[in-house]
Amino acid sequence: ARLANQIAAGEVVERPASVVKELVENSLDAGATRIQIDIERGGHKLIRIRDNGSGIDKGELTLALSRHATSKLKTLDDLENICSLGFRGEALASISSVSRLSLSSKPAHQEDAWQAQAEGRDMAVTVKPVAHPNGTTIEVVDLFFNTPARRKFLRTEKTEFNHIDELLKRIALSRFDVSISLKHNGKMVRQYRPVQNENDTIKRVAQVAGKDFLAHASFLESGDEQLNIHGWILPSGMATEPQYTYVNGRMMRDKLILHAIRQAFEEVCPNQSIPAFVLYLTIDPRQVDVNVHPAKHEVRFHQARLIHDFILQAVKQAAEPTIT
Ligand code: ADP
Ligand code: MG
Repeated sequence: ARLANQIAAGEVVERPASVVKELVENSLDAGATRIQIDIERGGHKLIRIRDNGSGIDKGELTLALSRHATSKLKTLDDLENICSLGFRGEALASISSVSRLSLSSKPAHQEDAWQAQAEGRDMAVTVKPVAHPNGTTIEVVDLFFNTPARRKFLRTEKTEFNHIDELLKRIALSRFDVSISLKHNGKMVRQYRPVQNENDTIKRVAQVAGKDFLAHASFLESGDEQLNIHGWILPSGMATEPQYTYVNGRMMRDKLILHAIRQAFEEVCPNQSIPAFVLYLTIDPRQVDVNVHPAKHEVRFHQARLIHDFILQAVKQAAEPTIT
């Protein structure tokens, strides 16, 4: 069982940041409004994610650590209309097969908290009582301890941590309602507080993208209920500035979207330096397949040409220097 899971892990668990991504998405799926992330040595030594989400019933802990044990696909229709962030049901099993993972959880309706851990060649799960508040904590210790080939590809502590930081910036700009904190080697590095109003939204964007970005960027908003785009663009950004895109609230690096944005900038302001943008596309979920790419950064639009041109026009319009 461990081997099969390790093979699956090859697809989703590339580096510490990919572990953090899967775990944070699980917390968000569980309705968490507070997520605390602790990293030691770039995530190589420790990744700990604590949330205040729905928790996992004692009886489901073992299942959560097995492959294809997703609780998120109830009917075939769900496949058509996926709103939760993950549904493949193999992240925990995969991560567990290449680390020492423990899962502690307490749903609000359950009296006590329990901790599960899968060990050995057959990944036998043991469950024992633990002290834990409502919610879930997942601890991933010694990532890749048993897969030397993967371990060899880990970069420096600082580089791996930067990947995690960057990932969380993207998430912070997709879930303004959730408070997220990030510690590295015991030191608080980021604190994204929950956003209550428009002013807080701007603050969080500034916190992630930089005050300069926000000061110079133009705001854009275009479209209707079926298809719309909003966000900030800066035609002549500096290379360090953000290039973030979201589809229905999920972060994406989709080729078609990026192409449309780049083309718009090229047409309006050729020879500029690299543009910066934070853009949110909202589209009828039936018009898009989100699970095309295993790492889930790409989507497939049913009407690709239409979407491309919609983004192109919207960004062009906003990037156009105003003629006075
Ligand atoms: P998936 O998210 O694709 O369903 P995972 O392997 O990531 O599969 O998680 C397996 C299951 O464990 C989930 O379906 C969910 O029921 C449960 N789970 C994982 N993390 C959490 C969490 N932080 N809070 C509540 N439930 C969780
Ligand atoms: Mg998941």
